[in-house]
Amino acid sequence: MKKKMFVFVIITCFLTILLFNQKTANADIVVQNQFKKEAYGSDPWFSIVKNINKGAPVDDKITKAHIPNANIASEKKPKPPIKKEHPKKIAYITIDDGPNNSIDRILSILDKYKAKATFFMLNDNMKYHKNAVKKMTKSGHGLACHGVTHDTNKFYHSPTSAAQEMKTCFATLKKISGKTSVVMRVPYGSKPYMTTPYRKKMDEYGYKMWDWNIDSLDWKWLNGPKTADFTINQIKNMKKAGITPIILLHDKPTTADALPKILKYLKDNGYEMKPLTNDMKPYNFWNLRKI
Ligand SMILES: [Zn+2]
Repeated sequence: MKKKMFVFVIITCFLTILLFNQKTANADIVVQNQFKKEAYGSDPWFSIVKNINKGAPVDDKITKAHIPNANIASEKKPKPPIKKEHPKKIAYITIDDGPNNSIDRILSILDKYKAKATFFMLNDNMKYHKNAVKKMTKSGHGLACHGVTHDTNKFYHSPTSAAQEMKTCFATLKKISGKTSVVMRVPYGSKPYMTTPYRKKMDEYGYKMWDWNIDSLDWKWLNGPKTADFTINQIKNMKKAGITPIILLHDKPTTADALPKILKYLKDNGYEMKPLTNDMKPYNFWNLRKI
């Protein structure tokens, strides 16, 4: 009986010790979890580390990965969201036949909207409005030529007559502005007049011939609001097709009236208005391409 009693006491003691140890172990895990929660909160870095250490014993997780970085993790500031940069859309404003009497108004409107345009100018008009040419040079607008006579019979008389008009025009432009340009537009556009011999001649002189892909018809409307709406509608269609607009306008008072609305639309829709330059591959009706 005594022996049985002894065995009973031993088993009871063993069970008590076992129970006590289990309680201590549970308490340790609670403390460890509390520590993890405080140190890392919902830091995503913690879950990455947790995955790396998957399968490792609980103690290892604490000592190897967490303790050395606990302070860094709690001080870590959330990263700002990465902004996706969209490439700026470009629009080319081109203004023909000037400089005329509206040029000062046109230049101040362009300045107001921080827009650069390209002026396809006539020889004698440049001579008459030298200050305007100097002003556009200073503002960084595109300086370009449109010939001398603007007369179909004279300009297109021969490939040489066309090239010579441009040569005279560029010489005047250089004299007034100090800038060398090879950017030009022929009167009434390059189709149908600029057949192969004409284009070859212009190539010999190194001139770059530009047309347009949006005709504002400002010369036809002679009305600011009509010109603006007609132009903006075409820009919208180009936008859908992902085409860079090259807009044909003229140095006229009604075009100056239309300009603020057109420029506002372009600006509000994320366009940058840039000048055409000597190094650009020209867009014209003989070389239609998406620019
Ligand atoms: Zn013209």
